[in-house]
Amino acid sequence: MTQMPNRRAARVAGGFLIAFIVSALGCFAGCSTPSDSSSSAPQQVTIPQERILDLKLDGQALKVIGAYVPQSNPSGAQPTPGPDTLEWTFTAADGTTVRGTLDDARTAESEFAPNGSSARAEVSQPWMVFSARVPSTAGTFAVPLVGASVPLGAVTQIASGASGAPAASDGSTLSPAPAGTEAPPDGVRKLRDSSAACPFNVLIVPEAFTDMGAFRTRAEQVANDIVSSSEYGTYANGFVFWAQDFVSRDGSIFDPGDNRPKSTAFGVSFGSADPNSAERRIIYPRNALSDETTDRLRIGARYTKADIILIIVNTPEYGGVKSQFLGITYVTVTNHAQGNRVILHEMGHGLLSLADEYSYGTCDRGRAESPNTSAKLDALPWRDMVTPTNPLPTPEGTAGVGAFEGAAYCTTGVYRPAHTCLMKELSTGFCPVCARQLRNVFGPRSSGGDAGAPDAGGSDSGGGGLYNPGTSLVCPTRALF
Ligand SMILES: [Zn+2]
Repeated sequence: MTQMPNRRAARVAGGFLIAFIVSALGCFAGCSTPSDSSSSAPQQVTIPQERILDLKLDGQALKVIGAYVPQSNPSGAQPTPGPDTLEWTFTAADGTTVRGTLDDARTAESEFAPNGSSARAEVSQPWMVFSARVPSTAGTFAVPLVGASVPLGAVTQIASGASGAPAASDGSTLSPAPAGTEAPPDGVRKLRDSSAACPFNVLIVPEAFTDMGAFRTRAEQVANDIVSSSEYGTYANGFVFWAQDFVSRDGSIFDPGDNRPKSTAFGVSFGSADPNSAERRIIYPRNALSDETTDRLRIGARYTKADIILIIVNTPEYGGVKSQFLGITYVTVTNHAQGNRVILHEMGHGLLSLADEYSYGTCDRGRAESPNTSAKLDALPWRDMVTPTNPLPTPEGTAGVGAFEGAAYCTTGVYRPAHTCLMKELSTGFCPVCARQLRNVFGPRSSGGDAGAPDAGGSDSGGGGLYNPGTSLVCPTRALF
């Protein structure tokens, strides 16, 4: 997480200061309501001490693709750090350095074989799109491990009028964080709404679709499959689904098997020409997204406050990956039926903070603790749910809840709550512990706002108080604002 100096209100005195429309930008930390804006006297105006940057890294090239005024109430839930983090630094002109970390999203991974069993395959990609919260002063933003840096101007003035936004001395402009109340960006539409106070937002986008009508039909099908699944169906009101159009020239993705060039919105390709190799199913954007696609997806994800992005790839063949865009989990899935199960599993990661319960992959016991995996036999997060007659550790195949060895990519020393679970293989539903996590997270977020306390004891209590209804409600969002 970022390490920032305390935010202080900065008072800018001077001749050119102008009214600042707080209602348009939201009130960020330390802000104050401007005094009479019709006065001709110079006014003191608060400028943001931090800005949110959206950045694109492609190899060693780093560029700022957007900048936002931070909201007064930063989101409660930041993206869960992945196994790999990169340090970033911001060095001001006076040499002061601020450091932070970001998930290294330069990998894409596929978790399951076509038969639904875990079979991890990972691939590196040379690019990523991410966000960082940095001071408003001039300086240099860098990702030292990659050897990439970009100079940033100071935010020096605040333009007047509702359309105004703080400008930086390098010419960039800070935009207000999207309020969600303005008209949607071009090509963005809501597919399915919710009456809940703080539902999750799912943004669905098309790859290799030439016909947006066909895409929206497919997107509605995916949304319906999710809200009618046995796992998430009880919490259908916990979702808002959005679709954003991206027209591709070609209706199929690049296949190294025939090597024919393709022009598609996301440049997704099959991972290998060999139909029998595990790499074949790693269906991912091999090269950096085009600037146009990056920008449109960035704006769409920001506007919809996407908690997860689903890229529907127009092919019947099984495959897909998960990776990150702006710190938001994105998943590529195809039209293959198994893709639906992959989505439900990936939402377990992206929305419920659940870990993988399979043991295939690179073991790191230091990162084994999660709601559904643990290395601590004597302090299991789900100890209240353990079936009293089950020994710990629990032999394979035993019914009920216990501590089954092998989880979180480790074959030994890390435990999972049940013999099997959707977080272990695709053919099964959530184990009781993951189902409780689902209730704890979705219960409040699928309700009108006065849902009950999180269920700590395994009973389906519903009811109260995580999110209070009201005009000042700020819903947790995965995106950094
Ligand atoms: Zn589970």
